[in-house]
Amino acid sequence: MPLEITAEDVLKKLNFCEHCGFCRSICPIVEVENYDESVSPRGRKTLFLALMKGELQPTIKLSEKFYKCSTCCSCAYKCPQGINIGEVSLLARQKLFELGMVPDTIKRFSNAILEYKNVYTADNASRNDWIMYTDADVKIKDSADLVYFVGCVTSFSGMVQTIAQAVTGILNYLNEDWTVLKDEWCCGHPLVLAGALKEAKSLAEHNIKEISSVGSKKVVTGCPGCYLALKYEYPKLLGRKLNFEVLHFTEFLNNCLEKERLKIPRLDVTVTYHEPCELSRICGIVKEPKNVLSSIANVVYPENNGSYFCCCGGGGLLKVTYPSTAERISKKRFEVLASTNAKVITTACPTCVQTLLQVASSQQNGRRVVDVSQLIAEQIGLM
Ligand code: SF4
Ligand code: SF4
Repeated sequence: MPLEITAEDVLKKLNFCEHCGFCRSICPIVEVENYDESVSPRGRKTLFLALMKGELQPTIKLSEKFYKCSTCCSCAYKCPQGINIGEVSLLARQKLFELGMVPDTIKRFSNAILEYKNVYTADNASRNDWIMYTDADVKIKDSADLVYFVGCVTSFSGMVQTIAQAVTGILNYLNEDWTVLKDEWCCGHPLVLAGALKEAKSLAEHNIKEISSVGSKKVVTGCPGCYLALKYEYPKLLGRKLNFEVLHFTEFLNNCLEKERLKIPRLDVTVTYHEPCELSRICGIVKEPKNVLSSIANVVYPENNGSYFCCCGGGGLLKVTYPSTAERISKKRFEVLASTNAKVITTACPTCVQTLLQVASSQQNGRRVVDVSQLIAEQIGLM
């Protein structure tokens, strides 16, 4: 986990770099940036070492090299020494953010999250407005056994608000005692990605206070970024254990299937699955979404499945800092997923759904891009 490492740990590891370049072969940035060594994982490693040794001065131009990384962490799986350049990028961002040496887009983005408490510069009082557009019965309670932490993207992006409809419909179907928070704020993970750790802390404190106020011991979220924040980043940022369990919604669904709380009719079409980097490679939630999918459909996986799957381009704030780089990655990823000939492309992340949908319109050919939760809700007749 990125926040569990220190600059010293990383520097020690980097000493074992053999300069072999295996990491270049898997990094999604390399090909779409014309094999520019300075934004390849190996190049970032060289720049980071020079920065830490004082051989390079911290500048905004230098910081751009570390923000042009989707923090997908696939390089760590190719490296014979297990070096994770995603962690290197995050450490460099933290150092450069503290010095104010970051791109303007990052400064504006971070300030806006702190001001608006969401990533969309929307009035945060309208965060729960998605409830008006769902058929599910959503009650905001003073106390509940379970909190559904919706996340900024699902709450505000019309493209993926159907995920909230699916999750809440399924929670009602299972007779869970659940609620959404009265005043959810951005989880803070985007600030961690920006390098703004101190700033992320204030958001973490607020959300924990909100969760504690309803007395819930379990939090579920459909967003891998929120999951990573709540489960792994909050305890590190705040230096204390939290008194609630955090589950990604696919873990929750898989538990329900294993306990036979859910019986879902099988689908008559072939689906494929795009693994979200933060859920799969970073948090290790790999088998749960796949179990859920294989219990209801024939699943074909794209090439480079497993640890070597490619990022959709939506991670690491790449869409904020370098949208055209992100789009080139997304198009390539969509082509790979489409080449499976599956009629339905599934994933388990609102940002991945949104990112793939943004490039899908011209290449869709009747294919759908949906979250696993939507597919399940549809199959049990909730949507
Ligand atoms: S794969 Fe690992 S050892 Fe090889 S260049 Fe990349 S970081 Fe260094
Ligand atoms: S984390 Fe991903 S984008 Fe960043 S250097 Fe490694 S492979 Fe490339």
